[in-house]
Amino acid sequence: MRGRYGRFGGRYVSEVLIHVLEELEEAFERIYPTPEFQQEFHHLLRTYAGRPTPLYYARRLSERTGLKIYLKREDLVTGGSHKLNNSLGQALLAKRMGKRRIITETAAGQHGLSAAMAGNVVGLEVEIFMGVKDMERQASNVKRMRLLGAKVTPVTTGTGVLKDAVSDTLREWAKTSRTTHYLMGSAVGPAPFPEIVATFQSVIGEELRRQILEFEGRLPDAIVACGSGGSNAIGAFRPFLSDSDVRLYFIEGGGESLDADNSAAAFVLGRPGVLHGALMQIMQDEDGQIKPSKTRAAGLNYPGRGPEISYLCETGRVKPGYAFDREVFEAVKTTAECEGLIPALETAHAIAYVLNHPEEFDRGELVVINFSGRGDKDLDAIMRYFYED
Ligand SMILES: *Cc1c(COP(=O)(O)O)cnc(C)c1O
Repeated sequence: MRGRYGRFGGRYVSEVLIHVLEELEEAFERIYPTPEFQQEFHHLLRTYAGRPTPLYYARRLSERTGLKIYLKREDLVTGGSHKLNNSLGQALLAKRMGKRRIITETAAGQHGLSAAMAGNVVGLEVEIFMGVKDMERQASNVKRMRLLGAKVTPVTTGTGVLKDAVSDTLREWAKTSRTTHYLMGSAVGPAPFPEIVATFQSVIGEELRRQILEFEGRLPDAIVACGSGGSNAIGAFRPFLSDSDVRLYFIEGGGESLDADNSAAAFVLGRPGVLHGALMQIMQDEDGQIKPSKTRAAGLNYPGRGPEISYLCETGRVKPGYAFDREVFEAVKTTAECEGLIPALETAHAIAYVLNHPEEFDRGELVVINFSGRGDKDLDAIMRYFYED
């Protein structure tokens, strides 16, 4: 069934939104394959976002682990992470659907920024909903978004965090969908969002496949990606799903410990349930109440896992794993010292998993880590961890 990945996914929303989502699905299926759209999207990816991103052979990380490690350098995408791939795609789609405005929500501000950038490039008004608590915590990204001309609207409902902002954005969309597109930031939400986001992010895996074949003449033994909603992971994995010899690892935030009040490891601690319009793996208590997830990496701090990743983990095609905060900070340092690169805390989860799970990899195996973003945004947290904690 369309919009379903096994039992996951679907469209658990109000009657009003069903119609809006159907319109979006129809428009995406009609517009995306056209040569005009493809040409404009890939032109922007090349000349604005900075694609293709390099596949970098990490010689010193390889020596340290006895593996052959490549890094897919999404940190070099404009804005510092993979997020712009999807934002550019959806902004272009919205423009071609005749919308004049995009709305979205953001927690750490990284997705809000990429949406503001994409909106400006394409020529759309941008409004970002953000929990009041998150606005305080991420004041510098609020300034950046405002400098780009985006309207940042504080969300005071609920506890003033991401999940409340998502609910508010869905409500706003139901009222304004004639002129407005909701630019979903990860491979989550009601159908067709997970499919749209995965499609735009698949550029990562398509490039990676060409590059590794060129360098090594064969496919990798494993691809490792971090995630919460799962957009960078599904983007890297998609072109390899039917290559059963390529192992796929999805690494989530272990937090401080697996104690459910201190973690974001939804594949260990959660179970399937409905959140923000889709059935997916979520952190929840016995009564089905969403449990707040907890990790030092803001980008992994969402209680749900996208429906396709939920399905692929359930069927065993993708192996879920997690990394604890302390392993993540150590991985940042190791990567900085070995390779001169400071990964985002999110990205460092994937690196930490490879460094700390030698039992998963045979000596000399070809392992690609999706290097989803750079760590400049996390510098204060990294310094606090090493020099104050
Ligand atoms: C937002 C973010 C993530 C998590 O998002 P996914 O949709 O799960 O990929 C991972 N890495 C970085 C650098 C991010 O900014």
